[in-house]
Order: sequence, then C-alpha cells, then structure tokens
Amino acid sequence: MKLEDFIQHRPPFRVRFWADGEPLGEVLFKEEPFGQNLSQYFFCEVCDELWGTIEYPNRHWIPTYVACRQHQDGRTEFPGSLLGPVDDINDLPPAVIAREFQIHITQLAKEQQDDRGNE
Ligand SMILES: [Zn+2]
Repeated sequence: MKLEDFIQHRPPFRVRFWADGEPLGEVLFKEEPFGQNLSQYFFCEVCDELWGTIEYPNRHWIPTYVACRQHQDGRTEFPGSLLGPVDDINDLPPAVIAREFQIHITQLAKEQQDDRGNE
C-alpha cells in the first residue's frame, strides 16, 4: 500500500456534538484537528445540569464549567455556548452554528437592554 492510499482510506476523525438533549451532528476530519482534542462535557453549576458534549474518538472526558442557557453564573460570557474563544466555526455542523448564533444574539440583545436599564 502506498502512503497516499493509506491517508486517503483511513477512517476519518469523527467529532460529535450534543446539547440541550439532542444531537447536533458531527464533523469528519481527514486529519486530526490541531489542539488538545479531549472530549468535553459541559456542566452548569447553577442547576447541576449536564447540558452539552463534544465527543472526540477514544479521548478522555474533561468537564467544562459553562452555565446552561437558562442560567448566569457570573463568569460565563455566553451561557449555553459550546464554543471556546478561538474556535473556528467554519468546520462545525450547521445545527451547532445555528444554535450558537441564537445564543450570541440573545445574549447581546440582553446586554444592550441591561445597559439601557442602567442609564
Ligand atoms: Zn443551569
């Protein structure tokens, strides 16, 4: 087997997304994405809900403390968001992008309202 054939035919690196009780799709990478790539579960300390996961194949699970969509914990900028500050959203499943868009818009609108309330 030629190296090129091996690279062409080996199984893809599959990353699965889940949040708010439903699967949000998966991304197949030909190469393992750069970075730490541990499986993450998202956990709200306000209500104890495990509300989201990003699953990498055969990777350890680590907790990520992010408030769920229903709560504010005082340090989560976008409650319910699965994204880190540097994530490139271009590779994500459409359902994840749509959900993140909704979360960010809702949060920004809320902040604007709060600002007006303080004037
Ligand atoms: Zn919560």
